[in-house]
Amino acid sequence: MNRADAAAYPVSSLQGIGPRRARVLASQGLRSVLDLYEYVPRRYLDRSRVCRIAELVDGEQVTVAGKVTRIDQAGPGNRKSMFRVWLGDGSGELELVWFRGASYLGALLRPGSFLAVHGKVGFFGRRSQMRHPDFDRLQNPSGRSAENDLLKTGRIIPLYPLTDAMKKAGIGSWQLQRMIQNAIETYGTPSEEVLSRGILLRHQLMPIGEAYRQLHLPSSPGQLERALHRFRWNELFYAQLYFARRYHALKSERNAVVFERSGEKTAELYRLLPFDLTGAQKRAVREIYRDLRSGSPMNRLLQGDVGSGKTLVALFAMALASDNGVQAAMMVPTEILAFQHWMSIRNFAGQVGLRVALLTGRQGARERRKVLEEVESGTIDIVVGTHAVIQDQVRFRRLGLAVIDEQHRFGVLQRKALQDKSDAAHVLLMTATPIPRTLAMGAFGDLDVTVLDELPGGRKRIVTRLCREEERGSVYDAVLKEVRAGRQAYVVYPLVDESEKMDLKAAVDSCRQLASGVFRDRRVGLVHGQMSGEEKEAVMDGFRNGSIDILVGTTVIEVGVDVPDATVMVIEHAERFGLAQLHQLRGRVGRGCHQSWCFLLYQGRLSGDAASRLQAMERTADGFRLSEIDAEIRGAGNVLGREQSGMVSGFRFADPARDYTLMQAAREAAFRLVEEDPQLQHEENRVVRTYFRDYFQQHFSLAGIG
Ligand code: ADP
Ligand code: MG
Repeated sequence: MNRADAAAYPVSSLQGIGPRRARVLASQGLRSVLDLYEYVPRRYLDRSRVCRIAELVDGEQVTVAGKVTRIDQAGPGNRKSMFRVWLGDGSGELELVWFRGASYLGALLRPGSFLAVHGKVGFFGRRSQMRHPDFDRLQNPSGRSAENDLLKTGRIIPLYPLTDAMKKAGIGSWQLQRMIQNAIETYGTPSEEVLSRGILLRHQLMPIGEAYRQLHLPSSPGQLERALHRFRWNELFYAQLYFARRYHALKSERNAVVFERSGEKTAELYRLLPFDLTGAQKRAVREIYRDLRSGSPMNRLLQGDVGSGKTLVALFAMALASDNGVQAAMMVPTEILAFQHWMSIRNFAGQVGLRVALLTGRQGARERRKVLEEVESGTIDIVVGTHAVIQDQVRFRRLGLAVIDEQHRFGVLQRKALQDKSDAAHVLLMTATPIPRTLAMGAFGDLDVTVLDELPGGRKRIVTRLCREEERGSVYDAVLKEVRAGRQAYVVYPLVDESEKMDLKAAVDSCRQLASGVFRDRRVGLVHGQMSGEEKEAVMDGFRNGSIDILVGTTVIEVGVDVPDATVMVIEHAERFGLAQLHQLRGRVGRGCHQSWCFLLYQGRLSGDAASRLQAMERTADGFRLSEIDAEIRGAGNVLGREQSGMVSGFRFADPARDYTLMQAAREAAFRLVEEDPQLQHEENRVVRTYFRDYFQQHFSLAGIG
């Protein structure tokens, strides 16, 4: 059968699926036979891997299959919430324990129920026990147990995800398996290929029809693995094909400004630097210059850990723009950062004759009008600003390069608005929130990526300490010691949302207490998101020029702030911050040649994810490593954020972190295909084009990306 037919047959066309079951299945998105075929088992129960109860070993993660012999709903001492079940398999008995969900389990499990359970075995004396196991009922509707099927045949049994509604309607994993088996026997599987023959052969992929069959009726572990591999390949290939097509479309535009002159300003800038560029910075500048000369628009992501010197790389690109007679704009997420970038860029740029303007939403009308005029007339070479730079009134004489700093803070539309300010501007995206290599390929597959993997020399490793409340005194001592030595310190309070009045009050109160208490002989400044732009700038200015010793603030100081004399970072309630944020905050110190410290104060007992996060902070300073750990803790989709992860989180078979090599192979195949046949017009690529259009673009619109 072909896909279209499978998609057209309703599940109710199958034997044993009446209107009621069809309704329940439909509520899970299972409407057609194709939907059933694409319903992915959660796990497989492989009989050859089922352990005998008599042979269980303490602490092992195992699968056991057997019959419920006894149930105890009351628990010892009549603990109502506890639920215990004994499972026998002929070799012995295993106790299953739940500490909650008794009523739900009571309705589900009976003596005689045949179960497959999966979990960690614990021993209490000679009694083996499993707590809160993952379990599946293996039983058909007539009550005849599937025991015989399971134990007598060597089959691998798919275990499907089930919802409460499905369970209530009597649809268990066993029933689903029967339905799908029935469908396969009646209709066969969709055998119409979705990959070209060349790719199937070159990568030795299982034919799609066979892969569907093996997915639901595996004949051996090896065949099942090949089927899963085939489906993973499908997903990764089509994801990469999407990127390949976008990438190719961009590269084949030849209308970008060619930055062919490397003139006085770039050369002069290089001469003027008080330090040498790091090797990584030089490499980045070279790669960017190559893009800018290529004739097609640059679309490059510059990833570099905090403090790796991205701003300077951007400045070189902007100087090159000016050498070639076009303007550059740099968009940053906060007022403070805009101001700071403007100051530091102006400092270098001014000396080489580059004119830099600041544009933010908080400027006075007169000043703003003047800037707008100068931008339009072309007197200004570089505009640094917040998203004020993308507003309608801003007209460039000729914009040739758009730089977006801390790009993860901006949405796709804001980025696009800046690009649209010119016909074909080059775009440089920068981020200090490193994304694991494995994920970057899945999320930014249409960008060229440069990694700054080197910090400017002379930096010392920041000492990071986790501190309990009782250690607060010694943390303050450390702050005072540094301040006495002429250094500066940050104290940061968590503020999940700047509009949270309670948190804000707590931060302001604590600041006052610190200012009139332990730090009363020191100059303390406060900065938070509800101050006006001018107020914030005044405080930041004070901190930068050294008239403030200790800056207390909420996370508005998080991104990008650069004060080389600051050597202590104290983070209050560190357990509430995310890993990326903690890393960003820590990156505010250790920017000069002095030894720096980061104290992570936490409340209560550390456990769970918070403990993992803080321990990771203590263990490593490598932003890439931290982002990998973050992905492990939170899952890839959460690290990338919704709009960046649309691609990655939509996978059902592939796991971008695990399948890195596979993704690379699929990427090469996709890019090669687009290189050879950009419009997918060759006869042999027709299937690819059809599948891409009909199926995959729908996937993208569901994931909310273009
Ligand atoms: P980030 O990559 O976090 O945006 P910045 O661009 O703010 O980092 O740079 C951090 C600090 O390092 C700045 O004070 C900058 O002047 C300095 N810096 C940048 N490049 C070098 C270098 N090659 N040698 C020494 N210091 C550098
Ligand atoms: Mg920066």
